Amino acid sequence: MNKGKIIVIAAPSGCGKSTIINALLERGDLNLGFAVSATTRPPREGEVDGVNYYFMSVEDFREAIAEGEFVEYEEVYPGRLYGTLKRELDRITDTGLNVILDLDVNGALGVKAIYGSQALTVFIEPPSISELRNRLESRGTETPENIDERIDRAEYELSRAVHFDRRIVNDNLGMAIDQTHNLIQGFTAQ
Ligand code: ADP
Ligand code: 5GP
Repeated sequence: MNKGKIIVIAAPSGCGKSTIINALLERGDLNLGFAVSATTRPPREGEVDGVNYYFMSVEDFREAIAEGEFVEYEEVYPGRLYGTLKRELDRITDTGLNVILDLDVNGALGVKAIYGSQALTVFIEPPSISELRNRLESRGTETPENIDERIDRAEYELSRAVHFDRRIVNDNLGMAIDQTHNLIQGFTAQ
């Protein structure tokens, strides 16, 4: 793949990355196509296969790894695999769009290592861990155990933020959307 730019958004779970990405896609002025990831986690209520994720069995995911179908993949939570399919990136770039990806920190830095200056990594930070917990609780999609698991991982993810090209704090949502929009606009215009 050598066309278009790649924008990678990473953040601790519950920080607001899907909300920000969806707002940017709705604005529609950045020529962005969202790269749908594959995952072995079950769909949340309202999630649609092929829109939010390609939901796969562990067996199918492992087979896709063996066939070399992923640009990158990670076991983000124990037993939960997530990965970026090569054919998904091609699907988007073939239409002339820039790609926007929602990845965990390791996936994000892995994509940067492959694509270099063609990729921009953006880390979205929460105002605090307690606010992150509030957002995960009010989203209402996770069990208490899953929330604890996600908060534990957030500490590790925040320690990786220094390696990203840019960092944005999602305190006021409107401001975070505008800042992310402006960053991407500047990067894709280069
Ligand atoms: P992520 O994709 O990073 O896991 P979401 O986009 O699902 O996070 O956001 C988690 C929850 O926090 C959602 O209920 C969302 O509406 C809410 N949220 C997002 N940004 C803010 C913000 N700036 N202030 C308050 N709540 C927010
Ligand atoms: P969730 O289960 O909340 O949808 O996502 C959990 C985490 O997995 C988030 O940090 C999200 O960014 C990450 N993630 C989603 N898709 C991928 C992917 O394709 N690769 C990697 N490395 N992480 C992903």
